[in-house]
Parts: sequence; C-alpha cells; structure tokens
Amino acid sequence: MHPRRPTEIFGLFAATTVLPGVGPKLAATLEKRIGTHVIDVLRHLPVGLIDRRARPGLDDVADGSIATFEILVIKHDKPPPGTRRPWRVICENETGQIDLIFFHARDDYVSRMLPAGERRIVSGRVELRQGRPQMAHPDHIVRPDAPEEMPQIEPVYPLTAGLSPKALRRAIEGAMQRIPRPREWIAPAVMEQKNWPDFATAMDKVHHPENAEDLLPAAPARARLAYDELLANQLALMLVRRAASDSMPGRSFNGTGALTMALVKALPFRLTGAQKRAITEIAKDQTSESRMLRMLQGDVGSGKTLVALHAMLHAVESGAQASLLAPTEVLARQHHATINAFLAPLGMEARLLLGQGRSGSAERRAIMDGLANGDVQLVVGTHALLSESVSFANLGLAVVDEQHRFGVRQRILLGQKGEGVDVIVMTATPIPRSLSMTAYGDLDHSRLDEKPAGRLPIDTRTLPLDRLGDVVARLGSAIAAGRRAYWICPLVEESEKLDVAAAEDRAATLARALPDVKVALAHGKMKSADRDAAMNQFRDGTAQLLVATTVVEVGVDVPEASVIIIEHAERFGLAQLHQLRGRVGRGHDASSCLLLFAPPLSDLATQRLDVMRETNDGFVIAERDLELRGPGEFLGQRQSGMPEFALADLGAHRDLLAIARDQAANMVDRDGAPHDREMADLLLSLFERDSAVRFLASG
Ligand code: ADP
Ligand code: MG
Repeated sequence: MHPRRPTEIFGLFAATTVLPGVGPKLAATLEKRIGTHVIDVLRHLPVGLIDRRARPGLDDVADGSIATFEILVIKHDKPPPGTRRPWRVICENETGQIDLIFFHARDDYVSRMLPAGERRIVSGRVELRQGRPQMAHPDHIVRPDAPEEMPQIEPVYPLTAGLSPKALRRAIEGAMQRIPRPREWIAPAVMEQKNWPDFATAMDKVHHPENAEDLLPAAPARARLAYDELLANQLALMLVRRAASDSMPGRSFNGTGALTMALVKALPFRLTGAQKRAITEIAKDQTSESRMLRMLQGDVGSGKTLVALHAMLHAVESGAQASLLAPTEVLARQHHATINAFLAPLGMEARLLLGQGRSGSAERRAIMDGLANGDVQLVVGTHALLSESVSFANLGLAVVDEQHRFGVRQRILLGQKGEGVDVIVMTATPIPRSLSMTAYGDLDHSRLDEKPAGRLPIDTRTLPLDRLGDVVARLGSAIAAGRRAYWICPLVEESEKLDVAAAEDRAATLARALPDVKVALAHGKMKSADRDAAMNQFRDGTAQLLVATTVVEVGVDVPEASVIIIEHAERFGLAQLHQLRGRVGRGHDASSCLLLFAPPLSDLATQRLDVMRETNDGFVIAERDLELRGPGEFLGQRQSGMPEFALADLGAHRDLLAIARDQAANMVDRDGAPHDREMADLLLSLFERDSAVRFLASG
C-alpha cells in the first residue's frame, strides 16, 4: 500500500455511490443494513470464508464441496424459448466432464462468458447427479491467462435482500482503496502490550481473512478495530456527559418530606429493598448542588413508576414542578392512571398532556397555562411536552420513560424547559452489569434488581407450530374461563408490509376459529388512533384477545392479561422475548407464556428458548444473551436497548472495555475537553455509530 496524505481520511466519509458498482439503487439497499458512507461499508465484517484452493479431478470431487476447475467448453444446450428448463453448458478436462447450469439465463451472458471451444477456470459448489458433477451458477468464471481475477480465499459477508455477494465484495474492495494511514490514536502502551496492527493494516486484514482463525474476535486485526470502536464509544460518552453538565449547572432540591412520606405511608404494599435503595440514591442527587442525570433500570414489573413518582413528589415538595415523558400515548395514559391511583390518598392529581387534537383544546389550554404559571405541579405526557408552546414556571425534574425511544435531541429540548432540570431516564431493558459502562458511560444508574414479593413466576413452554390447532383450542378454553391473551406475530425481516399481512391473517383465522371471542388487532402500520382504540378495547375487556406485532413490546400494562402466545419465537432475540413475556404476570393470576416455533431450530434458537423456559430473571437473561450472541448472527437482528456495535463483540471483547475507558479518560483534560480535538473528532466520526451522540460529543 502506498503512503497516503492525511486529508484522504475524508474519502472514508464519502457517500457509498463513489464506490465501484454502487448506483442509487444499491446505495439504498446498503443504507438499510450497512450505512451510507464508505466507512460503513468497511465496518461490515466477514463472518466466514470460502476457500477456492481445492482443485480436485472431475472424477474425484466430493458432492457439495466448493471446488475450482480449469475446463474446456464443449457445447451449449440451450433451452427452447418459453420453457423452464435451465441452460446447460457441457465442459470437460483431462479428468472428466462437468455441466454448468444456468437458470433464467440471459442469452448473451452465458455465451459470452463460456464460448464453445475455449478454456476457462470456474469455481463454485459442485453437486453430483447420478455420479456426474454439475455446478449451478459458478461463483467465478475467469480466463486461464487471468487467474488472479479469481480470489483464492474469499470472505463471506452477511447479506440482505437485494445485495449480492459479488456486488458487496466489489464495493468493499473499492472502499479498501480509500483506506488512509491516519495518525495512531491508540495509546502507545496499549499498542505495545497487544501487538496490534495499525488501522489501515487491520482493515486490510479483516477483509482478507486467510483462515478460520482470522475470523475470530481474538484475531489481532479484529481486536484492534473492536478496541477502536469501544474507545470512540467511551470517549463519546465522556464528552456527552460533559456537554450535559456544563451547559446546565444543577440545583439543590431540599424536599420537606411532606409528600414523599405521605406517599410511602399510603401504599397498600411495602417497598422492595431495591426500590428503597433507588429512592435514597435519587433523593441524594436531587438534594446535591449538581445536576442529576440518572438511569433507573429495572426489569418489567420491578416497580419503576413508583420510584419515579417518589422523585417527582420530592421535586414538588421542594417547590418545583415535575414531568413524566412517555414514548407513546398509550403509555402516557397508563402512567397517568397509575400515578393518580397512588396520588389519590394524598388528595393530589397529575395532569395529562397529549398532542394537539388528542386532548380537548380547552383542557389543553388550561394545563399549559397551569404549567406556565406553576399551578400544575405534576404532568404526564408525550412529546407534546417538548413542543415550543409548552413552558414551565419552574421545572425541577423530568422523568423520561424508555430511553431508547428518545433521542439525544429530545434531551436537549428538555434541558431548555428549565434551568438545572434533573433527569431520570427509566428503562426496562436489563443490561448486564459488565456492560453498563458501555451503555451508560458516566451516567449514574440505579438498578431495581428485585421483584415485589408475591409475584408468581410465568409458566413458559415451547411448542412446534404444527400444533397450532391444539393451541387455539386451549386458548379458547382459557378465554372462556375469563382470561385475556396476547397473540404476538413475528417480524418478517425484509418487509413490514408482510408483517402486517401476517398479523391480519392471524387475527382473521383466530376470529373464525373462536367465534365467541372478540379479537382486536394492533400493528405498527395502523394509525395511532386506531391502534390505541384496539389496545383500549383489550384493556377494558371488550376484546379478550389482542393480536399484535411487537408494538406491544414497550410497557403496555394490562394486569388482567395472563396468557401470551408468541408465534415464530425462534425469530426473536432473547431481550425481545423477555420484554414481550413481561406483558403478562402483572396481575394476581398465574400467567403462562407459550413460545411457538418452526422446526428445525438452530442451535442458537434452541438455547434461547431454553433460557426463556429456565428463568424469568431479566438480568440473568441479559447475561445469557450476551454469551450466546456472537459473530455470524444475521444482520439487523436488533436487541432492543442493547448498545450496538459493528466491530466489537461485547461478549468476546469485554476485557477491552475497561482499557478503552481508561484511555478515553486520558484523552480528555480535567474539564472534560479533549486534549487533541482533531483526533477526537476523527475517532468519533469513524467509529461512533450513534450520530446523535457524535453530534453532542463534538459540541
Ligand atoms: P415497571 O414500570 O417497572 O414495569 P411498574 O412500576 O409498572 O413496573 O409496577 C408494576 C406493578 O407493581 C404496578 O401495579 C405497581 O403498582 C406494583 N408495585 C410497585 N411496587 C410494588 C411493591 N413494592 N410491592 C408490590 N407491588 C408493587
Ligand atoms: Mg440536584
């Protein structure tokens, strides 16, 4: 590789359309799964390799193997027009004969690639038909005088619909030409200890694996890039933290205890130990001079809302206002109802503010006035709370539910709603302790790792899909016995349209099979008003069965629902299955969860379903999830709430995290500004995938 000027780093941030073979159409496909820039293509790593070095004789080739042959083209057996027969090209060499097969071949293509009477090198998967070798659609066809055009060892990349291995490889090879040799950003001590290659060499190596070992997370080139990504992530989190606390110095809220004590006293149950700890941690932050930015993390049903309400009342009894921000209208209504039930004994009430046209305009006006003049102390709402027209007299605390639905931008908007506003972010995604550093960086966090006493475990079973008939029959009797049930339809990887169609079909089949049951349907493509209506029917019992796509995943609370059936459970990740299952087991009844799967199950899917059967503990599940995940899983399988990395494998590279964190700390000065701004910017733009974080961090 020839030396490059440092400015060439910009080549990595060009649009993918600068790459060979990438037009607007392919760029759109790449964007969906890989990204929009050259660097994104480079971050897409191979998961396997094809070794084309084997050159057996045609009389000695194993069925199903990948092999390479030099052959002479004998003749073309072209299908008559209008038939479905494939095009067959008969070839031979000293060791025997082979047929090359093409389905739906374009006329000129096959004849041009394989002129009769000429020799070619072909490589691909061989099949034996009655002992005769054949190869359908060879991967490579090259002239004998240009053998270098065929790779001996070829990396295999995760693909997505509309993306051929060839097109992707060509784009990646093009991207490789643009790799610069930037100044080293990894600390010399780390480089020395690990013996890692530089950035350019590492990129080159990961895309040209020579053996299976090169694909392992521990391979030096892979480890180096993983470290780069973790370093960028840690640096970003440090800078974000600084941006947050710099622009908004905190205030001290010295609660009188009048309301918080009354709240606890009026509870019909005892706080769990974890709730008590979280409440103490939060109250301490509120009282301190610095601004609180705290994550409240707890499994579904661990009682986060109550902890949040306690903090809200602490703000109110200190003379300030408090708000709770929910990601959807359904959740906003639900929190509002829950909170008001807790507040009733205190003679207090929280108001609910939804988007325009969703609350009556007179009521809306009244709430907004109340927020502006301080009469309204407690408010629950959706994004509507962030709109410009909403102002607060004295906002002291903002609680944000389900952080991953809110971007950093919203957090900034929130900061503008008041000075030194304390923020609590509630999330139901249990993140393993070993990962909290990545997920939160310097954010303080409280964990509710204890369930309220008396909760019944959810009975979880697995069943193959061909037993659907039995399942529906049993479901019918459960509903007849007064239970309410969710039926979750899977995500179809490629198309939301198909998901919706599957859910609609399922709802129709179930309605036909269970004529006495009222079935409601909720999916992501519905107007939100219709979806809310369906959810409300299910909540108030008008409908006893809710067929839904994963829209019910986040926090819907219908305590009367005690059955959940998840169709094609093998397609879901562990975190998601756990979130879904958490929709039941919230009331007094024993609940059950049925995981329907389509055999044959992969090893990974089998293990996932086993984990679900074995435990109800979200933290245990998160740890197992981390162990089970590894390279080679297909693209786009998002694990909700988990931090996502392209290069780092959080299971395998866990030990690098602490080193990256130390180095990141050394890269910023006491005030949290980077010593080397240019390098920090470069690192973030290359490796930090969350553009909002990147934006915030680079101020
Ligand atoms: P999360 O938001 O963490 O999923 P919630 O706050 O919705 O959990 O709490 C789930 C249910 O448990 C609610 O009905 C709540 O009133 C109840 N709850 C909260 N804390 C306790 C507790 N310490 N003991 C018994 N029930 C509790
Ligand atoms: Mg404070």
